[in-house]
Amino acid sequence: MVIGAGMGGLAVSIRLALKGYAVTVYDRNPYPGGKLSQFVQDGFSFDAGPSLFTQPANIEDVFRQANERIEDYFTYESVPLACRYFFEDGTIINAWTDQDKFADELAQKNGEDPVTVRKYLARAEKAYKAIGTMFLDHSLHNVSTWLNHRILPAISATRSSYLLKSMHGYNRSAFRHARTVQIMDRFATYNGSDPYKAPAMLTMIPHLEQNEGTFYPRGGMISITNALFRLAVKKGVQFRLGAIVQKIMKDRNKACGVITTAGEHRADVVVSNMDVYYVYRDLLDDQPAATRVLKRERSSSALIFYWGINRNVDSLHLHNIFFSASYRAEFEHLFSKGTMFEDPTVYINITSKMEEGHSPPGMENWFVMVNAPADRGQDWDQAIRATRQRVLTKLKRLLGMDIESCIVTEKVLDPRGIQANTLSHMGSLYGTSSNSPWAAFLRQPNFSSSLKGLYFTGGSVHPGGGIPLCLKSARIVADLL
Ligand code: FAD
Repeated sequence: MVIGAGMGGLAVSIRLALKGYAVTVYDRNPYPGGKLSQFVQDGFSFDAGPSLFTQPANIEDVFRQANERIEDYFTYESVPLACRYFFEDGTIINAWTDQDKFADELAQKNGEDPVTVRKYLARAEKAYKAIGTMFLDHSLHNVSTWLNHRILPAISATRSSYLLKSMHGYNRSAFRHARTVQIMDRFATYNGSDPYKAPAMLTMIPHLEQNEGTFYPRGGMISITNALFRLAVKKGVQFRLGAIVQKIMKDRNKACGVITTAGEHRADVVVSNMDVYYVYRDLLDDQPAATRVLKRERSSSALIFYWGINRNVDSLHLHNIFFSASYRAEFEHLFSKGTMFEDPTVYINITSKMEEGHSPPGMENWFVMVNAPADRGQDWDQAIRATRQRVLTKLKRLLGMDIESCIVTEKVLDPRGIQANTLSHMGSLYGTSSNSPWAAFLRQPNFSSSLKGLYFTGGSVHPGGGIPLCLKSARIVADLL
């Protein structure tokens, strides 16, 4: 039994069905996908959650294992421009996934030595291949990982600076210009962390985007959910959508099924894809374990404005970032003060740039996201009003356009909504943050050590949040089983 049909739950259900298990997936929502869902409003279609697709190898592997052609389920294309960055001084930087083009762009706009840029990205690749693949693809809490022949090369590739320096400190010593440092610091937000606190180990993240590339799934991100769901159904997985799991049943020290509103359902193996905090607090009545989860800092959340825009804005691309002029202060607000910052970094994703049908002709579907602190009962209604105005003022300044008058439809999602939609504690996008060098070791393991037959997948457990890592966690669970 799998609790939750998010990325981790869908992928693990397929992998277990392929191993011969009879798998049933329960999700409290009437639709699969968890955070990766979509909605249509006034002729505009919006991906509700994730907008950036990296490392398709993780999903390709699911289809390969299933002996199915992925292109029969969904297709995706590489996007040569990973992101267009806008700075308050008017500079615009294109982050090409072609390394030479990106190095030239940083040389031209920021005076960086192209050799330095290439070396930085080569180091990120080396770190990812030696350390990342070892620790992200395996359980950290299983003895076999530590006996793996690749463990010694992984440990010897771990420079002390990766653990002792912050990501920002590492980037500042690598580059000349503050704008380049800000671009590279930004990758800490890929798992909801703070570049001024997170260890330099996270500088391997740019490898995924700048070296391996970014991709656009035809039909939008929802195509990923739809593809996995279709494959799961084809492989015999049963879905009970709209079913809330209330308890995990125990037989002495073994998980033996779940209780839903419809009654008891017995199983040999239970895999949880829900936020691990609620598993302990509600499904297992284990308050001490739930309290231990809370000791780890939550990742950041987000405020999202979904705007239908009644015109095409040619200066924007699929992914766009309008940086804050005071990045350090922004993160201090998010993680230390727990408040929104008055000059927020603004991310805009526009899938109608990639294909027709996501907006009425001549219009665009804007997904406008601002980093927000995890929910601690802040006054979100006031924060939404203030942030909306700040975003509009910033865009007017940097785009030279009055965006407010172009908005023809609007919806807002705040940390309370993120928490309510997928039961992500405090609305955190990526479970716990990676602000400490030990975060990877403190994150919830992929199996329970006190209850046999209970396993964990998804963004709140090892190796962490984001689509690639959730898919990896599903593979780890299947391998453990
Ligand atoms: P979740 O999506 O968290 O789903 C868990 C499921 O469990 C839900 O469907 C929920 O209904 C169900 N559930 C919970 N409790 C119960 C219960 N008691 N009974 C039954 N069902 C239950 N990642 C990227 O890679 N790229 C991005 O660009 C990106 N941007 C993001 C933007 C936003 C706004 C958000 C919210 C997230 C973003 N992420 C991004 C993160 C990514 O979406 C998540 O890490 C990933 O989708 C989480 O998958 P999961 O497997 O943890 O399951």
